[in-house]
Amino acid sequence: MPLTIYNFLTRHQEEFKPLVEGRVHIYVCGPTVYDHAHIGHARNYISFDVIVRYLRYLGYRVRYVQNITDVGHILDTGEDRILKGAARERLEPMEVVERYQRSYFEDMDALGVQRPDISPRASAHIPEQIEMIKTLIAKGHAYEVNGSVYFDVSSFSKYGKLSGRRVEELEEGARVAVREEKRHPEDFALWKKAPEEHILKWPSPWSWGYPGWHIECSAMATKYLGETFDIHGGGVDNIFPHNECEIAQSEAATGKPFAKYWVLGGSLTLNGVKMSKSLGNVLTIKDALRRWRPEAIRFFTYSAHYRSPIDFSEQALEAATRGWERAIGPALAVREHLRSSALPEGGADDVAPALADIKHRFIEAMNDDFNIPVAVSVLFELSKLTNTLLAAEPPAGRRALEAVAALYSELAGQVLGILPERISANGANAEREAGLIRLLIELRAEARARKDFATSDRIRERLKALGVILEDGRDGTNWKFA
Ligand SMILES: [Zn+2]
Repeated sequence: MPLTIYNFLTRHQEEFKPLVEGRVHIYVCGPTVYDHAHIGHARNYISFDVIVRYLRYLGYRVRYVQNITDVGHILDTGEDRILKGAARERLEPMEVVERYQRSYFEDMDALGVQRPDISPRASAHIPEQIEMIKTLIAKGHAYEVNGSVYFDVSSFSKYGKLSGRRVEELEEGARVAVREEKRHPEDFALWKKAPEEHILKWPSPWSWGYPGWHIECSAMATKYLGETFDIHGGGVDNIFPHNECEIAQSEAATGKPFAKYWVLGGSLTLNGVKMSKSLGNVLTIKDALRRWRPEAIRFFTYSAHYRSPIDFSEQALEAATRGWERAIGPALAVREHLRSSALPEGGADDVAPALADIKHRFIEAMNDDFNIPVAVSVLFELSKLTNTLLAAEPPAGRRALEAVAALYSELAGQVLGILPERISANGANAEREAGLIRLLIELRAEARARKDFATSDRIRERLKALGVILEDGRDGTNWKFA
């Protein structure tokens, strides 16, 4: 089966045919960098990491663009996310952006998510956004009122084609508190005039202001990937209004189709509940990585199809950790075996048909709209076969084990990103660190039991100086990083 992808635009699974033979241009909506990334981000960007890894594995030359939103993303309350972060931390807005952009890439690196080829920042592409807005005004798709510019939704008949929402439907459901500037409630901002005290603002033909959230993706995708490109990715939560607005702006400006395939990932809940700051149930990637290995977090995301919802819980992560160990343990054992000199040579021909069959079925699963759960079940068959080989008498030959190790590197390493090159990867360091902290907590509990408070306080203070906070509770002492 050739590679087929479920295209949200057509609501059909279609054969993937890139615009240019052998090349793939892909754009994925990136994070708004005003706080640490959470496990919902981890899920989404791991999915696209595997998709891009797989496209490269198939031999495509991929250009992967993922933006960094550092301006113009407004909360429901009307506050700008970046400015909110800046006020919270008493920093310059661009300090906040820098801090959380670094934090985001640190997390992605730790999770083995390969970096995009281009990570353009919205604030560095204000001229491109202004140019696109000028084109939209010139073509009659946008209008200026009091220094702000809005997209005229009624001028673009295909509005709603991605999300399936109709304009009439939107009008009925539109909120009462509509800005009177707009001609229609569903029109959306391309440029906003900034209030006097607003810090993040730029000059434009209309006012000192800032771009609307959606226009950055249209402008930057077009700049780096062309007016029409192959794949646009993101989370399904952003299908409306964000993705819908991107299509309207881009296609109205260029008169050409925007992305050919729309690939949207499913949402993530935490213990059955949608994560939200106001509920206080947000789990950051950094916190998750203190408890679980990065490979286990990746493996957890593979338990559901990338388009399906998934629920993050302690049990799910424990199960994923065990699953990952079962899937990868035999690969590590094979590496150990290959270090021994006592192996008989040969044996490749004996395993070749079984390995070819496994590889074939892995590719079939991935070609079926990146069906990673099925691909993982095929990987388990490789593990089963490997365990049989390792237990065989007389022992399996060196060439056979080398062929097994090579297939693991391809499928579990190159494509799925869950086979560490060396076992002393970051995850092992985090485990060791957690083990050392637990040991100190035990020693402190013993000191307290014998009323040696000088020692117990010293342990607490020294850990605090190292950025580790101990919290005594009814069921013992927990720890977290400051
Ligand atoms: Zn976007």
